[in-house]
Amino acid sequence: MARIVQKYGGTSVGDVERIRKVAERIKAIRDEGNELVIVVSACAGVTNELIARAKAVCANPSEREMDQLLAIGEQETIALTAMALHGVGVDAISYTGAQAGIFTDKVHTKAKIKTINAKPIEKDLVAGKVVIVAGFQGINEEGQITTLGRGGSDLTAIALAAAVKADKCEIYTDVDGVYTADPRVVKDARKLQEISYDEMLELASSGSKVMQSRSVEFAAKYDVIFEVRSSFNYNPGTIVKKEIAYMEKVVVRGVAVDKDQAKVIISNIPDKPGSAAKVFRALADASIIVDMIVQNMGRGGIANLTFTVPLTDAAKVQRTLLPVLEGLGGGEVAIHENIAKLSVVGVGMKTHSGVAATLFQALADASINIELISTSEIKISVVIDKAKSDEAARVAHAAFELEKL
Ligand code: ADP
Ligand code: ASP
Ligand code: MG
Repeated sequence: MARIVQKYGGTSVGDVERIRKVAERIKAIRDEGNELVIVVSACAGVTNELIARAKAVCANPSEREMDQLLAIGEQETIALTAMALHGVGVDAISYTGAQAGIFTDKVHTKAKIKTINAKPIEKDLVAGKVVIVAGFQGINEEGQITTLGRGGSDLTAIALAAAVKADKCEIYTDVDGVYTADPRVVKDARKLQEISYDEMLELASSGSKVMQSRSVEFAAKYDVIFEVRSSFNYNPGTIVKKEIAYMEKVVVRGVAVDKDQAKVIISNIPDKPGSAAKVFRALADASIIVDMIVQNMGRGGIANLTFTVPLTDAAKVQRTLLPVLEGLGGGEVAIHENIAKLSVVGVGMKTHSGVAATLFQALADASINIELISTSEIKISVVIDKAKSDEAARVAHAAFELEKL
């Protein structure tokens, strides 16, 4: 007997037929005598549809009300999944995030999990019930519903796996595992048997939406080994775990593209101590995540700052920075939304050179211009024209011969 946490993403529970299929799958594993905690997402498309409705009634909806709204997507699926299990004779109970004891901080729309009171769930498990938990949501200390950021059901699953000390954590999705690149974009992408937390984290935070990046961060911190696999077949998936020395033999393990980024250029700000601090303090206070910062010195005591932010925060950047620049005595903000970030990732970069040169040459050969560059120990990222980003992913994948991995 094992204690297993399974998460089924939006496509896996996309309609009632899929929910029935998932219930059969759960029943088979339950019948082997295992204890099961099941995390489900909203049906595919529902969260996007709710966001569109919010925008249709208000250009700038309040984040608290967004959380109230978005939480209903998952609430529908937990109840339907529990009912489908009852329909095949399995004792199951559904819980919202709050009912499951998932407590978060106060940051609406991207809350962090602070604690989980897993005792009630454990009691149900011992009593033989399959527990169904709504992904992506929790409750803060003021009793307000919060959500955990897009893709947040992954985080719910991994945090619950740690809280109930699960023997196994499985993330079921619509692809067979983690590939060397998005298999929808790069046709000869290869499924990886295993990948380190660090590589998975860099890929996830660089746009590989197969896992939410914060969930991978959490898994690394609490050493929750998990498997990404398909709910549409029984193929083995990809194991995500701590780095092992032999993993460094592969220089580049994957390519990611993030099309949901915007480039911000602040020009003509006074070049004096404290300018950058004031700009980035204001952005941080507005919970805006900034990446790829480049500063150029202009002439006559003037500087330009360029950086990237999530596309969804672009309007917030404008609103946040205008008063700051006024206070500094000058500067203009321009936002470019037609960009994408391409990243190549691999722990082997720590011990191999020439990765940047190979990437830049491959892009040059395809006439793709590089606008910004940033590097970390195991990643190189470039900002390029969004229209060319799929081609760039294929070119980079080929340059590192990832189809042979
Ligand atoms: P779910 O709804 O199950 O959470 P997502 O749509 O969030 O699923 O994530 C799965 C999708 O991630 C796949 O359909 C695939 O197109 C995309 N994807 C992007 N990069 C990768 C990658 N490197 N490996 C596998 N899938 C990837
Ligand atoms: N339903 C949420 C989303 O679409 C959470 C998730 O699917 O993980 O982002
Ligand atoms: Mg997802």
